[in-house]
This record gives sequence, structure tokens and C-alpha cells, in this order.
Amino acid sequence: MDRIATPGATRGIIKKYDIKVRKTLGQNFLIERKFIDKIIAAAELDKEQIVVEIGPGIGGLTQALVEAAGHVIALEIDQALVKTLQDNFCQVNNLSVIHGDALKIDFEYLTNEISARERYAPGYKIVANLPYYISTPLVMRVLEEHLNFLSMVLMVQKEVARRMQALPGTKDYGALSIKIQYYCRAKIITQVPNTVFFPRPEVESAVIKLEKRDQPAVKVRDEKMFFALVRAAFSQRRKTMVNALSNAGLGPKDKWERILEECEIDSKRRGETLSIEEFARVANLLSVRGDASCCLPVPPKVR
Ligand code: SAM
Repeated sequence: MDRIATPGATRGIIKKYDIKVRKTLGQNFLIERKFIDKIIAAAELDKEQIVVEIGPGIGGLTQALVEAAGHVIALEIDQALVKTLQDNFCQVNNLSVIHGDALKIDFEYLTNEISARERYAPGYKIVANLPYYISTPLVMRVLEEHLNFLSMVLMVQKEVARRMQALPGTKDYGALSIKIQYYCRAKIITQVPNTVFFPRPEVESAVIKLEKRDQPAVKVRDEKMFFALVRAAFSQRRKTMVNALSNAGLGPKDKWERILEECEIDSKRRGETLSIEEFARVANLLSVRGDASCCLPVPPKVR
């Protein structure tokens, strides 16, 4: 099979199969090999591994994945593209194309089935040029459901990649950075111009690698409480942490001043300057005391 990820081959497949490119499904196909190579190198694949690809599209990235990995499970929501893939890849025996929504499909069931049948080691890698509209929900789903992935190498919108990798005190740092970095080591692999897609998206992209930590970055007694505190602290970025928490209806200012003081955190600091360790210290103190005030819903006006 010729290389799919070129401008000519991509146009050829779209014409041959009369594909209606659907903007609403984030269909922007990669047409430059260089970026596929970077994704493959970052994923560090070998023939002993299963890869889950989300949104294979017409198969530009899939083609490189089946060469590098043991088995590829490709999840595609667009039935027309599923048919195209099944036709184009009919000679490839280490690819399973599954029709469905990656936000709902049971990854563990699919990967367990393949690994039991073909004796792969437990765990799998996720690799994708993600449709932008599902990037954050998809990553959240994988982390919150504690799926058995080893790493994710993802093409996402540049701003989302920056937020995932951001450090305290920067404008990109927020609840997403903490959620990601609690479970994973995050590293932007490369920036990606919009010229390497067909059709061209309006935004710039980046490839990010999220490598699952053996243990979360910090010891947290109650994860629900920890993440609720983080969300509340970022509900009003421009305010101090004390003001943000008390404006969110989570108790009076003096209570939060005392708690921060006990955690040796200056009460004048904004939430956006606190490290993951510092958030964990506060959440753990609340948990020891059985104080679930930060788990109260934050009123929508301060979100
Ligand atoms: N992997 C191909 C490439 O790099 O050229 C296509 C990537 S394109 C940005 C995103 C793909 O995800 C499209 O094929 C789209 O139909 C598919 N998609 C969109 N939403 C999806 C969902 N919820 N579940 C699975 N696939 C989805």
C-alpha cells in the first residue's frame, strides 16, 4: 500500500471513496510523514505491545502504527471511514477497526480480548491525532476511570498541550495541569503547524506525551477531596486562594487562613501559585479532620 499521509494520496482516497469530510467530527487528516514519524518515535512502540488509536480517519497514522506495534485497535466514530479503512487495510492482520465513540467504548474489554488471544503483556499505549472536541474529555475519562494504559501520545490543540504541561505560577497552569500531572509525566514533543493537515484546521497543534506514573505524583488521602479543592481554588483565578474558596461558599475566610497557615502556605497566595504538593497538603489536612467543605458544589457564577 502507498503512503496514505501525503497530500496526493489523501485527496485520492477522499475522491475514490467519495468521503464527506466532517468538520463537526474534527476530521483533519495528517498529510506529512515527518510528524507521523515524531509521534511513532515518542510512543516507543514494539511488536510486543497493543496500541489503541482513537480516530484513525483514513489511516495515515494507522499505517505507521501497524508497522511499529504488535496489534492496533482503531476506534472510529464515522461509519464511512470504517468502511474505507476495512477496504484499504484488508491485507493487514494486526489491525482491528472498531466502529464507535471513543468516549464510550470499553477499551479494557477490547485490549484484554486481544492480549488474551495473542498473549501480549498487560497494558496498552494510546496514540492519536485527536479530534479537538474530545481531547480533554477523552484524557479525563482515561485518567478518572483508572484505565490500564501505559502512555498516551496525542496530537491536541497547542493551548491544551500547554495547559497539560504547565507549571505553577504560569498562565496556563490550572485544574487540568494538576489532574494530568498527578497521574502522568507530561512532555510536549513538538509543535505542529496547521499546514500539515487536510483540510487545515483553524488552530495550531502540538504532540504531547503523557507517561503514566507508577504512583501518583503526591500521596493523597482522598482523591475526590483533593480534586474538588483544586477546582474550587481555580474557580476565580485572579483572587487569592482564601478569597476564591470563601467566595465559592466553602466557608469563611478566617477558616481558610488558619488552614493554609497550618500547612505553611502564605494565605495571600493565589491558587495558581500552589504546587501539587501544596494542594495535597491542604487536602490531606481537611481529610484528616473529616472536613468535606471543599466538596460542596461551587456555584456556577464563580466557575
Ligand atoms: N488519525 C487520522 C489522521 O491523523 O490523519 C485522523 C485524525 S482526525 C483529527 C480525527 C478522527 O477522529 C476523525 O477520523 C474522526 O471521524 C474521528 N472521531 C471524531 N470523534 C470521535 C469519537 N468520539 N470517537 C472515535 N473517533 C472519533
